Amino acid sequence: MCRHLGWLGADVTVSSLVLDPPHGLLVQSYAPRRQKHGLMNADGWGIGFFDRSLEGDTPRRWRSQAPLWGDVSFGSVAPALRSHCVVAAVRSASVGMPIEASATAPFTDGRWLLSHNGIVDRAVLPLTSSAESACDSAILAATIFARGLDALGDTIAEIGTADPLARLNVLAANGSRLLATVWGDTLSILRRTDGVVLASEPYDDAPEWDDVPDRHLVEVTPQRVTLTALNATKGSR
Ligand code: GLN
Repeated sequence: MCRHLGWLGADVTVSSLVLDPPHGLLVQSYAPRRQKHGLMNADGWGIGFFDRSLEGDTPRRWRSQAPLWGDVSFGSVAPALRSHCVVAAVRSASVGMPIEASATAPFTDGRWLLSHNGIVDRAVLPLTSSAESACDSAILAATIFARGLDALGDTIAEIGTADPLARLNVLAANGSRLLATVWGDTLSILRRTDGVVLASEPYDDAPEWDDVPDRHLVEVTPQRVTLTALNATKGSR
């Protein structure tokens, strides 16, 4: 499983979310604490953030197929990247999946940024020509974009029913909302005074982190955090 992190709140630096915390994504790339599948996340990294302008929020991405810990430039630039909404990930490729930057989250449709922790049988996903890569996560992202993010919970429950072995932790943001599903892996939430963090695992040992129960949808807006139970669709186990 990869590890991902989302932020919605005040403008903060990317480094303060990803590089500086004692157990942030940088450390999680080689020493995750809660990862159940895979030992480390050496198959790439991606940082997405929303850039606020008069025309609205524009998603920007920086992705690589190399390990985050080996990047010689990102540590210099990340303190200068500030955003109110961030989606970042480090990747442990599933067996058989291509290792390439285009297979690395976050994926985008031009409005949303989306990351997937997990695995899904590509045979249960609809054929699509809009996926960036043949990687399961890229095809899942294209499927979710095509169905619309308002249907995220239903889409995950349907795919999880079609592939009972799937793990479908998805994290998505559009600049004003963060959405996440918990389906087979961990997710924690930190409510800070300046915003909300959703992360595969806590980036520090603050007691304010809460674990989100399995099979839930989380929605974060500037006003509130909402958790909704997800049920497998009819005909499932
Ligand atoms: N299945 C996805 C991939 O191969 C995600 C892997 C993961 O969560 N470790 O990239």
